[in-house]
Amino acid sequence: MAVLWLDDVTADDLDTVGGKGASLGELTGAGLPVPPGFVVTAGTYRTFIEEAGIDEELFAAMDIDPEDSAALRAAEETARDLILGTELPESVREEILEAYRTMGDGDEAFVAVRSSATAEDLPDASFAGQQETFLNVREEALLERVKECWASLFSQRAIYYRQRQGFPHSEVDIAVVVQRMVDAEKSGVMFTSHPSTGEPEIIIEAAWGLGEAVVSGSVSPDNYVVDRETAAVDEVTVADKKLLMEKDAETGETVEREVPEEKREARVLTDDEIERLVELGRQVEDHYGTPQDVEWAIYEGEVYMLQSRPITTIADSTGDAGTTPSSTERAAATNGGVDADGAGSNANATGTGDDEVILRGLGASPGIVSGEVRIVTKLDHLDQVGEGDLIVTEMTMPDMVPAMKRAVGIVTDEGGMTSHAAIVSRELGVPAVVGTGSATTALSDGQVVTIDGDKGTIRLGSAEERGEEEHEPVEAVRPETPVKPMTATEVKVNVSIPEAAERAAATGADGVGLLRIEHMVLSLGVTPEKYIADNGADAYVEELVEGIREVAEEFYPRPVRARTLDAPTDEFRELEGGESEPDEHNPMMGWRGIRRSLDKTDVFRQELRAFARLYEMGYDNVELMLPLVNDAADVEAAKQHMEAVGIDTEKRRWGVMIETPASALAIEELADCGIDFASFGTNDLTQYTLAVDRNNGNVADRFDELHPAVLSLIGDVIETCRELDVDTSICGQAGSKPDMVDFLVERGVTSISANIDAVRDVQHEVKRTEQKLILDDVR
Ligand code: PEP
Ligand code: MG
Repeated sequence: MAVLWLDDVTADDLDTVGGKGASLGELTGAGLPVPPGFVVTAGTYRTFIEEAGIDEELFAAMDIDPEDSAALRAAEETARDLILGTELPESVREEILEAYRTMGDGDEAFVAVRSSATAEDLPDASFAGQQETFLNVREEALLERVKECWASLFSQRAIYYRQRQGFPHSEVDIAVVVQRMVDAEKSGVMFTSHPSTGEPEIIIEAAWGLGEAVVSGSVSPDNYVVDRETAAVDEVTVADKKLLMEKDAETGETVEREVPEEKREARVLTDDEIERLVELGRQVEDHYGTPQDVEWAIYEGEVYMLQSRPITTIADSTGDAGTTPSSTERAAATNGGVDADGAGSNANATGTGDDEVILRGLGASPGIVSGEVRIVTKLDHLDQVGEGDLIVTEMTMPDMVPAMKRAVGIVTDEGGMTSHAAIVSRELGVPAVVGTGSATTALSDGQVVTIDGDKGTIRLGSAEERGEEEHEPVEAVRPETPVKPMTATEVKVNVSIPEAAERAAATGADGVGLLRIEHMVLSLGVTPEKYIADNGADAYVEELVEGIREVAEEFYPRPVRARTLDAPTDEFRELEGGESEPDEHNPMMGWRGIRRSLDKTDVFRQELRAFARLYEMGYDNVELMLPLVNDAADVEAAKQHMEAVGIDTEKRRWGVMIETPASALAIEELADCGIDFASFGTNDLTQYTLAVDRNNGNVADRFDELHPAVLSLIGDVIETCRELDVDTSICGQAGSKPDMVDFLVERGVTSISANIDAVRDVQHEVKRTEQKLILDDVR
């Protein structure tokens, strides 16, 4: 039998009908309103290629170097020619057409023709989303479309991934779902539980017309938040819906149209429709036993379910037939749309009135926690901070790290996303809100508050009292990536404190893009000069070796890019021995980075000796990076010191940070110094390009790493470095931002280094952008 009706399919038929087919069959069997349809089985495809005798030639054509784009193109073409150029056996044609004809109620039905691959266990998660789907197909084109779905198993992208992962092409089969189109008047998606917290809240997004508009993100949908238990509608946000997609009555094609004026700002769903959707949401979640991400449509008052997948942002995928792995990405993207309404509506969305927010700052390290406020001043004894306390302080200091580890959360008056508090709390996985302006005076010792390190809010009382769930940082709310996405651009991680090395390595990052050694030095509690004076140079070297070694060991053989000292004088001044530091008007533009190192060569040499010692010990994965260079003179001088302590600059990998416009403009001469890489320190590059102090809250809204001037410098440096064969990377905070990631990948950056909590998202973002580039190339 070439076809199976959805009524006869269950989740156990995965091998026969593929993931999508099995999921739709399962839903149909559960009595959910799925539009009728049938599946051209995977066996039909297999028999077709085998009986026509094209299988061997087909698989042999795939044996190519996946990095060779001409060969990829040729392999795709061969597959298309073989599959589309071979006639379907008469019996198969008849069977498919006969099944199709029964769907039409007398008329020729419009159907969707969707690929449904069987290799759901492929390590690369988004594989299943890569094959073709055709909408509004009628009899005339049906058989051709089925074959096109088959051929899409051999798209360049699919071939590339299978080759890269060593997955045999002959082991993937493809079924095709043929399903009646729902001429949706309204459609959207529904999460049967809150997609990031898992709370029993149904979130519905709805727009006019076909669902593609919502799923593709081309229209901002209405948003409805419903209590799953009581079915009370807690929140309705009506969006301005400019566009809709619908079927053109003449051609049957999906077209984009403007939404008529009177419907643009009108609410899409009636209370009755919401009720019906909620009922379906409960039913489908009960059926699967896990929260679901549902695509739905409404036509002539009837609600249809088009697709249901587990929400993988909450918990591990159950491996249900319905698992379409790209749902993580979709759910995250759609969730992003919900979040775009701003912190206020989200506070409401989680059932907690905005009015309870007593203080706001920047969400610097994700997670929601409650605890007792412990106001910590500089002179305090930090051993007062106990397990479960919330540190509230003006600004964290390096000597607070042990106490920060004990704390459940951290709140500061001052500092931005790249402040010590933000960096360290992210690495420790402790939720933090920084830059609140007045936490140390607005809050009092012993008070219980809840902080939200995503939204940057502080509310009175504990989460428990409100019946909310606390959640720890990323690992707790998002499942670990079972297999890290394969990306051509390397994705690395930033580490500042050696204690974070293990957590950082567990992200599956391709190495450390920035190890800031000043955090190690600052945690000694005394200035390097004083440490050396008190304990001798060897002891100082030993401290550095130990700290860097801990990270290098954890990541070996993945590369670890350690940076020579770059602390501004105001940070040193807090340390013992700091009284002799100069009092600078603007430390950010003062005596820091390579400038200080080249003036204080006695200290700089000890740092370099630490690198030399690590190489001697066999840590050849350590790379050396120089901060805040302006020109070749800086780099040449540093290089001489490196060689003087026995570092072979030919053999070892070393490079510079691009943090000033001067260094970006001088990239050719820097490359001539023999650097292996240039890494964008966008925190500084932005502040120096825009003249916006990165630590100054008054101008925080002007600190824009995506400013065209910054991007122009970065883009030019990448272009030059590609010509000169110098690797490029980013290690500033902006490397964790999707827009920056897209820009860099498009320009051809070699690697991106992100914060620990962002690595996973960046891996996915890089992958998405790379795939888009491959696709654009193909189209
Ligand atoms: C930067 O400037 O972007 C950077 C990574 O260095 P730091 O934040 O330590 O100045
Ligand atoms: Mg910097």
